[in-house]
Amino acid sequence: MIPVLIGSKWERPPRETLPVFNPATAEEIERVPLSTAADVNCAVTAAAVAFEDWSRTTVMDRQRLMFAYKALLEQHVDELAAIITRHHGKTLSEARGEVRRGIEVVDFACAATTILQGRTLREVGAGVDQDCYRYPVGVVAGITPFNFPVMIPLWMFPLAVVCGNTFVLKPSERTPLGAVRLAELFVQAGFPDGVLNVVHGTTECVNALITHSRVAAVSFVGSEAVAAHVYREAARTGKRVQSAGGAKNHIFVMPDADIATAIPSILNSAFGNAGERCLAGSVAVAVGSSAKPLLAALTESAEKLVVGPGDRDGVDIGPLIRDEHRTRVLEHIARGVADGARIPVDGRGYVQQPGYFVGPTVLDGVTHDMAAGRDEIFGPVLSIAYANSLDEAIALANRSAYGNMSAIFTSSGASARRFRDTVQAGMVGINVGTAQPFGFYPFSGWKGSFYGDLHMQGQDAVEFYTRKKMVISRW
Ligand code: NAD
Repeated sequence: MIPVLIGSKWERPPRETLPVFNPATAEEIERVPLSTAADVNCAVTAAAVAFEDWSRTTVMDRQRLMFAYKALLEQHVDELAAIITRHHGKTLSEARGEVRRGIEVVDFACAATTILQGRTLREVGAGVDQDCYRYPVGVVAGITPFNFPVMIPLWMFPLAVVCGNTFVLKPSERTPLGAVRLAELFVQAGFPDGVLNVVHGTTECVNALITHSRVAAVSFVGSEAVAAHVYREAARTGKRVQSAGGAKNHIFVMPDADIATAIPSILNSAFGNAGERCLAGSVAVAVGSSAKPLLAALTESAEKLVVGPGDRDGVDIGPLIRDEHRTRVLEHIARGVADGARIPVDGRGYVQQPGYFVGPTVLDGVTHDMAAGRDEIFGPVLSIAYANSLDEAIALANRSAYGNMSAIFTSSGASARRFRDTVQAGMVGINVGTAQPFGFYPFSGWKGSFYGDLHMQGQDAVEFYTRKKMVISRW
């Protein structure tokens, strides 16, 4: 059984457990405990005790520790990537990319002495100065999804703690091993006891955490319904909340697009991480005369993608996270076909037992009236839709309940600008298929993709993890 981390002690209290699998082989590789509300209370109490000293530690000392942590992460990139592949399934190169993206946020946290600065204005009135200082908020809780077991925890706790907060992390019960290794390295870097705590589990544990009276702020990433629930419950109990939800991302291909650039980008966006990505471009919208060449090129290229275990050379698409999830993805495909979509590339025949594999699938002629055009499938399924004009394409994307990412492929600056200004998505790609902001900018979903005000990463996260004090002084 994997341990919990309470006040920098790794513990294995006897608890009910769930299996953790290698999704490429369906083998059970670990058991994760279901932390109870009492366990959560111990973790939050340890964090609250640690906050007393940690919040008074100098910013230089916090920054030095973050540099030590960054150095350890750099030394363990390959090990962390192997852990990700082993219990998530994505390919090793995708896993390495995930670790690098996570370390980018740590790089930003290493700039604490700059990013935590306040503002001052002297002589606002006669002999009166105005200062703005940042203070930590207290104990922060972070709850993360299965699909980025290392990167998404790194969106949260490094920035929270460098701001002077202490943290309780609840990683996904399906992929908890990355967070455990991150926490071991964090302790090894020399952070004091209780600055980072880790509990495990599902609903009971999460609900205890997001309503605990000594938790001041909650960072959540997961599916839309749970994101909305966490936002409501944590806010109801007086906490600040940033809660990122699901997605259905559209990629537009204009008649003037460079198809040679667009095709690999769309394939990577739709099928990378086996489609288990909140930035997956899962609907390609062919505008006007791009329809024929786009369908031909996408179909031909998708058929060539190699499905298999993520640690095998040459594999493009690893397994899905669980058998139940594979079943759900297969049901989505069947429903798409029943609703009238054509299926030029059918990944259902790809059954490589006993892992949870589905091959790349292309559903053609998908409309917003079909579930395949609206719902997040979270698998290697690319829907193709058609629009007569850019405005029609934008209107289609804007009907989505989600607003995480959208992208356009075009050689027209005017089209790109019109798209940028009117599409309702927080992250926008122009000739880029997966518009992931760099670690020093906010990760910014709109509509059902995000509940809250201040996003993950970048200066938004610094705002979220600090509260401001205005000092007006006269001497
Ligand atoms: P999930 O919602 O099932 O789980 C996320 C976390 O919430 C986990 O830690 C889980 O234990 C917990 N949880 C699950 N059900 C709960 C409940 N009823 N009450 C309280 N807590 C609960 O999400 P997932 O399947 O792990 O992750 C995939 C989802 O996350 C997709 O929808 C994806 O789009 C989304 N996601 C969004 C972003 C983003 O930035 N918007 C990034 C990554 C993933």
